[in-house]
This record gives sequence, C-alpha cells and structure tokens, in this order.
Amino acid sequence: MAENIEAENGKKETMNFVEQAVFDDLQAGKNGGRLNTRFPPEPNGYLHIGHAKAICMDFGVAERFGGTCNLRFDDTNPVKEDVEYVDSIREDIHWLGFDWGEREYYASDYFPRLFELAVRLIKEGKAYVDDQTSEQIAEQKGTPTQPGTESPFRNRTPEENLDLFMRMNAGEFDEGARVLRAKIDMASPNMHFRDPIMYRIIKTPHHRTGTTWKVYPMYDFAHGQSDYFEGVTHSICTLEFEVHRPLYEYFVKELADESYCPRQIEFNRLNLTYTVMSKRKLLQLVKEGLVAGWDDPRMPTISGMRRRGYTPESIRNFINTIGYTKYEALNSVSLLEHAVREDLNKKATRVMAVLNPVKLVITNYPEGKTEMVEMDNNPEEEGAGTHSMPFCREIFIEREDFMENPPKKFFRLAPGSEVRLKGAYIIKCEDVVKDADGNITEIRCTYDPESRSGMPGAARKVKGTLHWVSAEHAVDATVRLYDRLFNVENPAAETERDFREMLNPESLKVVEGVKVEPYVAEHAVPGTKFQFQRVGYFTPDYDTTPEKLVFNRTIALKDSWEKEQKKN
Ligand code: ATP
Ligand code: MG
Repeated sequence: MAENIEAENGKKETMNFVEQAVFDDLQAGKNGGRLNTRFPPEPNGYLHIGHAKAICMDFGVAERFGGTCNLRFDDTNPVKEDVEYVDSIREDIHWLGFDWGEREYYASDYFPRLFELAVRLIKEGKAYVDDQTSEQIAEQKGTPTQPGTESPFRNRTPEENLDLFMRMNAGEFDEGARVLRAKIDMASPNMHFRDPIMYRIIKTPHHRTGTTWKVYPMYDFAHGQSDYFEGVTHSICTLEFEVHRPLYEYFVKELADESYCPRQIEFNRLNLTYTVMSKRKLLQLVKEGLVAGWDDPRMPTISGMRRRGYTPESIRNFINTIGYTKYEALNSVSLLEHAVREDLNKKATRVMAVLNPVKLVITNYPEGKTEMVEMDNNPEEEGAGTHSMPFCREIFIEREDFMENPPKKFFRLAPGSEVRLKGAYIIKCEDVVKDADGNITEIRCTYDPESRSGMPGAARKVKGTLHWVSAEHAVDATVRLYDRLFNVENPAAETERDFREMLNPESLKVVEGVKVEPYVAEHAVPGTKFQFQRVGYFTPDYDTTPEKLVFNRTIALKDSWEKEQKKN
C-alpha cells in the first residue's frame, strides 16, 4: 500500500487513514475508479466547527483524488427541520471554500423509493408493523449480553402488514401508535439488528414534501440507501456510526449487486474546550435568548465565527492541524485561536484605535496644524501599501499607557519620561491635569520636532512606542470584547449540571467611546480585517452603520487568557 502520494507540487504529502482507504479503493479499481463522497447535514440547526471538520474531509478527499462531493440534506424529520437552516448550511459551506456544483440532493427526494423498498421488504416477510409503544419496544430490546424479546406482532402476515403500513401513511393512526420494523434478529449480538425501526408516523408537514407523507424513514433506513441512490462510493462519517455500519450494509444489500456498494468509513468527532457542540444545546441557547442568535460571535457555529472575524483559511488550517483519527478527543480552543492569529497576522490591516482614551496635549505643537503621517498597512505582507493618518496638537492615548508613579520597568509614558508615538514624533511628559476627584483628564507633553521618520533625530532611541489617534479626527466606535462562552473546560462532561449554569457571565463586554482613526471608519464594512495595533484583531460587526460603528474583537494579540489560568 502506498504511504504517500505525489502531490501536485511534487512534494510528498502524507495521507490520513481515510484518504489511504479511498486511495487503495481507487488503486484496486473499485467502483470503476469512480470517487463520490457526500456531506449529509440534517437541516435542524446551523453548522458548527465540528461540521467544518466533516466538510473538510468529505469535500477534501474528493478534491484530492479527482472525485466529487454531494451536498445532501438529511431531511427525514420534519418536526425539527426548516428552510432557514438549509439556506445557512449552503452559505457556510461556500464560505469555507467548497462547492457541490449541481449536486444538491435531499433525502426527501428518495421518499418514494424508500417507501417502495419498505413495501417490498414487507411483501418478502422482512418487515412488520408493530403496535406497541416505543417504551414497550425499548423494554424488549434486551442488553448486549441478553437477547431481546420478540414482539407479539412480529408474525403478522405480509398482507396484514402491508394494509397497516398503507393506512399508517394515509394518516389513519396517531403518531406513536404504530411503527414499521425490520424483521432481523432479536438475539443478534449487535443491538442495532434487533428489529430496528424503519418508519414512524409524523403528522407535521415537511418543508419540502408538505403533507404527502405521514410516515418518515429513520436514519438507519434512509442513509445508506440515499448514498446508494446517489452513487456515493465513500460514505465518510463520525465514529458513533461505526456500530450502525452492519445495518447500513444490510439495507444497502437489499438494493445493491456486487458491482457497486457504498463504503462507510468513520473518523473521530471534533470537540472543543469551553464550548458545546450539540445542536440541541446550541438551539436552546438561541431559543432562550442566552446568545444573540446562531451567529452570535461567541457561538462555535461557522456563522458565529465568520461574524467574529475568523477566516475560512484559519478554520481549515486548524482542522488540518488536529487531523483525523479513530479516537475521540477534546481539542483545545487555543489551537483554533492560534490558527486565527496566524492567518490574521498575514491579512489584517494595521490601524490605530484607542479603547480607553485619555487626552494628550502637545504644548509646543502649533495650534490648528495637521500633518499626515504614513502608516504601513501590513509589514507582514509585501505590497500591502500604506495609508495616511492625521497628526495634531491633541491626541488620545490609552489610559493604561500612562502612569504617574510607574514601577521600574514601565516603558510607557510617565512624568518626565519620553516615548515615541508610532509613526510620528517622540514626546516627553511635562505635566498632568486632574479633575476635583483626582482623575487624570489631560496629559501635557512637548514633542521633539526633529524626531519624525526621515528627520535628523529619527534614529534617537526611546524605550516605548505607543499607539494614538488624533483627537480632532478620531471617530467614536463601540467594541464588543468576547471571552469563552463557558467557564468550564468540557461542559458536556459535567452530566450532573445544567449546561446553562456553566455559561461564562463575562463572555461579552461592550466598550463605548472607543476612538478610531478615520481610515477605520472609512473601511468599516463587515468582512474587513483590522489589527488595532497593540490591542488585537477586530472586524466590523453586522450591526455597524455609518452613524454608529460597531467592532467585534476577533481575538486578542496574545493568548493572555491561558497565562492567567495557569497563575490562578
Ligand atoms: P444531530 O444528528 O444530533 O442533529 P449532528 O451534529 O450529527 O447532530 P448532522 O447534521 O447529522 O448533525 O451532521 C452532519 C455531518 O456532520 C455528519 O456526517 C456528522 O457525522 C458530522 N458531524 C457532526 N458533528 C461533528 C463533529 N463534532 N465533528 C465532526 N463531524 C461532525
Ligand atoms: Mg447526525
């Protein structure tokens, strides 16, 4: 077996175990050398970072070996599904950088064929209608070491079963009154073979098929056959489906011949620290207003991460880093954040913004004068260019960048000390002005007119460099600072507690009165990536308007959070 394949650029790239399996099948000429995967979301919620892992696998494998990947909506439960979710799923996959072309399918497209197969299995004595309640059926399941009990309805005639199944679908019976079960083996060591349910009655209209159907197929009776109908060759899914695989194959064999049968391969789910990944819980956060919606920037959803300013490349790089295995694990969110920083460092435009401003007056600078200083847009990227920023007699700096009685190694501004204003002059603090309560309202400085870049004194060294904005030209903005949504590392593991109790009350802080340079205001459209120098990475929020600028902090410049945790 080949361990490596020749990548397009001639570099040897390692394959993960799924790619290896696909590669081997292709080499062996299986399915006539055809490769077709699928990504099968149920449209009952927005996609999250876990789904991104599955998407990267399903689309990635197809891309790598010249195959195709279908998008199939697994819409077999009308109670929980909605077109809003269908639309968001499409948008998120495209944003991640994948495309399914014309290959958009719905499990509901196969309802007629699945129904037909069910009818055939009934006629062949391989399926029966059970009148018991779901509780009774569950009680009879047995345990992995004890065989189950056969249903008293198991030996109905095919005629009776067919009549009942038709009447189930005609709406004659209530939800839960009857189910259709496969007649396999109540003593099978694989619990999934103990007469699994194939169809249940649901009377809620379906978002695509309306009221055509009153019976809906279960996952196990829909998934493998849908793969088969679509010509899927490799059905890649997460580990929890490993135990379903024999049943998947059992139902597919009712349709397939030797020439073609989809192959299921499982990999480990993505779990992230300080968040939850269950769609049920995420939906609860949305429904109960505990977050601002599915795309709240604190959510682990793709739409939340997009709104927060994460890039698709950073998500894909992160998924590449963690890789695919056969073992469940909990991945540190710090790894994802590292990938976000790395990518934004290359892409974000460097600008100035002061989050906690204090006024600074340069007493020897002419009143009414404005100079334009040139700022690098991105020193990490060649050709990123520059933009100009106004400099004036009155500016804002961060309150934290000044200390009246500084400790020894304080390299920022203090009485009598000098600092450089980034891109502009060296200033020296001469005096402070305070209000009646002793709060500093103004810092008074002088500047060295020879210290600007290109001037004789430009090379003069001072210890600190501060960011700043012109008081006259700065624009007011609001910023939203985000922290972890949960304050427990693995909320899903705390089964004794309600997960909502573990929400971090400090996960959102809103800061008003932030001062940004004019360039930022001029480019404040969602999608733009900024680095507020010395502060962090920021992006305009969807709520931003020309009258009110709102920015999300995508991420701080450094991982200060982890350090703090270690100290405590
Ligand atoms: P549920 O079935 O409970 O609604 P789900 O998260 O499994 O939730 P699906 O819409 O069925 O949602 O998932 C679509 C695909 O995404 C499946 O193939 C599933 O295996 C995969 N997937 C879901 N969650 C993760 C995860 N955390 N890591 C990797 N893949 C995932
Ligand atoms: Mg699922």
